[in-house]
Amino acid sequence: MSVRAGIVVTGTEVLTGRVRDLNGPWLADRLLELGVELAHITQCGDRADDLTAQLVFLAGQQVDLIITSGGLGPTADDLTVATVAQFYGRELVLDTGLEQRIADILRRLTAGRQGVDFDAVLAANRKQAMVPVGAQILEPVGTAPGVVLHSEHLPTVVVLPGPPRELQPMWATAVATDGVQQAIAGRTEYRQQTVRMFGLPESGLAETLRDAQSQITGFDRLEITTCLRRGELEIVTRYEPEAADSYTALVDLLRERHPRELFSEDGTLVDDQVAGLLAGRTIATAESCTAGLLAARLADRAGSSAYLAGGVVSYSNDAKIELLGVDGALIAQHGAVSEPVARAMAEGALARFGADTAVGITGIAGPGGGTAEKPVGTVCFGVAVAGRDTVVRTLRLPGDRSDVRERSTTVAMHLLRQELGRP
Ligand code: ATP
Ligand code: MG
Repeated sequence: MSVRAGIVVTGTEVLTGRVRDLNGPWLADRLLELGVELAHITQCGDRADDLTAQLVFLAGQQVDLIITSGGLGPTADDLTVATVAQFYGRELVLDTGLEQRIADILRRLTAGRQGVDFDAVLAANRKQAMVPVGAQILEPVGTAPGVVLHSEHLPTVVVLPGPPRELQPMWATAVATDGVQQAIAGRTEYRQQTVRMFGLPESGLAETLRDAQSQITGFDRLEITTCLRRGELEIVTRYEPEAADSYTALVDLLRERHPRELFSEDGTLVDDQVAGLLAGRTIATAESCTAGLLAARLADRAGSSAYLAGGVVSYSNDAKIELLGVDGALIAQHGAVSEPVARAMAEGALARFGADTAVGITGIAGPGGGTAEKPVGTVCFGVAVAGRDTVVRTLRLPGDRSDVRERSTTVAMHLLRQELGRP
């Protein structure tokens, strides 16, 4: 037996895209961890009728649990609790103890502020202490309490505030309530694991998965989702513990068929792997078309271990010559976007920063600047490691300017992984 849930994300700012929804995806992950099947995430603006329509829809889909986010504030457009109460056929009553606790929070928040009419603040917030009869109250993390409503005849409803930093801690409290525990009593335990590949087209993976279907016993018990992102294939598999052997067989097959492309069996990102490989080293970058994006990406993981010495962004030939010591004759002979120049940039950065590892990137991200010989998307890479021959590569990357730049940094990360991972 499986337990199903639905999420309603409310808020006109989310509906219009001005605020990107963080709560739906976050709650989706939590439900997955719990072993609850997420059937729908719906969104609506701050209108009672629309919220009611979502609740009616989800109840009709036989979900056991509905979670709402947003609309718990003190203002008139915050109407989630009242709307959910009406859907449940419950009156709203003032909880004086809760009112007192909210008042205490507000007193602390407004302490020391000039010109605050505290009575007006209290009046506005009395609304937040109006709770449906029989509801379990989730104490506020900000100022808005949440509620859990449970009955035999309707899905359990968990009402949470919109701000993610309030919603997230309150979810943990909500899960522990009797109402939620009863709703999720029949859940299944799932495992979820991720593997990552680089340099394999989706069609190649599809073929391997077709073979897996015919070769692996219990393959149908694996729920596999594949996603192509920045040239990397992410393969997420969800399964019940009994299907663990089928999952192991799947990973064995992927490794056997695509040993070079499969770079992460435990879901770790290439950024983390490169960070691990750079421990005890120093790296420098010399970037043209990526304009410092690789340095920024390396800096994200460098933290206090400080393996990133620095980087040069060299668009013009003069900058390549003066800052990186690239030979002007090399540029004249091969062009700025060429393997010899990528090599010279990497080696120049290595020397300039006194690093033991360096990457050079020079390419044409577009929209203009391409030629028949070197169209937009042509990018040359050099990876220099002290004491080794510098490795160079040229790739044609698809997409628009920002795709080419992003893909270039991903390629550079993988070249670093391969080069530093080599004995
Ligand atoms: P408040 O007391 O802050 O009004 P609330 O529960 O009424 O709390 P909303 O009014 O729906 O929450 O949203 C307040 C703010 O929280 C939004 O302006 C937005 O910045 C953030 N927020 C709300 N919902 C989401 C969401 N789904 N994803 C990310 N941020 C959100
Ligand atoms: Mg609000």
